[in-house]
Amino acid sequence: MTYKIAVFPGDGIGPEIMAEAIKVMDCLSSVLGTGFELETGLVGGAAFDQVGDPLPAESLALARASDAILLGAVGGPKWESLDYSVRPERGLLRLRADLDLFSNLRPAILHPQLIDASSLKPEIVEGLDIMIVRELTGGIYFGKPRGVRILDDGEREGFNTLVYRESEIRRIGHSAFQIAIKRNRQVCSVDKANVLECTELWRDIMDQISSEYPEVELSHMYVDNAAMQLVRAPKQFDVIVTTNMFGDILSDCASMLTGSIGMLPSASLDGNGKGMYEPIHGSAPDIAGLGRANPLATILSVSMLLRYSFAESDAADLVDQAVQVALESGARTPDIHSAGLQEVSTSGMGDAVVAAMHEVADGL
Ligand code: NAD
Repeated sequence: MTYKIAVFPGDGIGPEIMAEAIKVMDCLSSVLGTGFELETGLVGGAAFDQVGDPLPAESLALARASDAILLGAVGGPKWESLDYSVRPERGLLRLRADLDLFSNLRPAILHPQLIDASSLKPEIVEGLDIMIVRELTGGIYFGKPRGVRILDDGEREGFNTLVYRESEIRRIGHSAFQIAIKRNRQVCSVDKANVLECTELWRDIMDQISSEYPEVELSHMYVDNAAMQLVRAPKQFDVIVTTNMFGDILSDCASMLTGSIGMLPSASLDGNGKGMYEPIHGSAPDIAGLGRANPLATILSVSMLLRYSFAESDAADLVDQAVQVALESGARTPDIHSAGLQEVSTSGMGDAVVAAMHEVADGL
């Protein structure tokens, strides 16, 4: 069995972290015989520079024709003055929307070796394992009308629209409940139903769905409180389900509990299990090209790809265990480094994971 993977390195640190993920896939092929056929495509600023479009038709066709997609990150200051319609981020949003990848799973897991890298006290984060389920193809990032207009008095006014159809809320709700069944059976739906009608509807639909999952406990929380609770007592959460923008913000917040934004992978799935896998962080222009980027979020995205798109749990377990072993050995990129441990570059971390994969596989 050979899996056809579309690889989009993107911009900034994207190509650096992707190179390490590819090393891991090559290693899986040699150690477990997992067959990957990788085809690289252009997306983001790199695509705009070459063909004037952040999501060229060939890239979309490649994504559609592949069994799964692995993406680095897009964007950067170089493209910030472009019109929104051709910005790198728009290419990524279009890719997600065109493939209907509405269910974005963002696990925030604290690896025990990184307890000192967390921004919170060890007793607050020890054993942390949250799954944030973010709606990815609707809400304010896509709602229309949007733009900046000039009012009669000459002042400019910016506007965006938060909009969700019942069916969009229902399908992301089902994703969250189905994941919760395999975990600790608790779903916390995060909204702002006290001021936003759209999220009052969100709450209503979550309540409706909940009757179909009597074994799962549903709670509701306003987003401002959720942000506070995430840094006060994050272990109260099992599965969080929320809107596109709230999920974007809360998952970045959750990432720091795990030590670094460079540790969090994600899966974006359609209704049939097709998925795109990417780290939750951006293109980190401040460290691009310096070999300082942490590739583990991208490597762990490979593990999610194996697990969610292909049910290759042995291969996914091997990657996850190898990351643990690499961290155990003391390898640390600068973002998770602390005194007494070995600081490694982006490629050094990839090498440490590959070495650990051989070690773990030999011990099987
Ligand atoms: P960012 O996530 O790129 O960086 C935030 C901070 O985290 C920076 O200090 C960066 O150095 C650090 N960081 C990020 N990833 C890291 C890694 N793997 N290892 C070590 N440190 C890491 O967010 P930003 O600075 O707000 O955005 C930069 C660009 O990325 C912008 O153009 C933005 O639009 C884009 N962006 C893209 C995505 C995506 O492609 N999915 C997501 C968020 C932001």
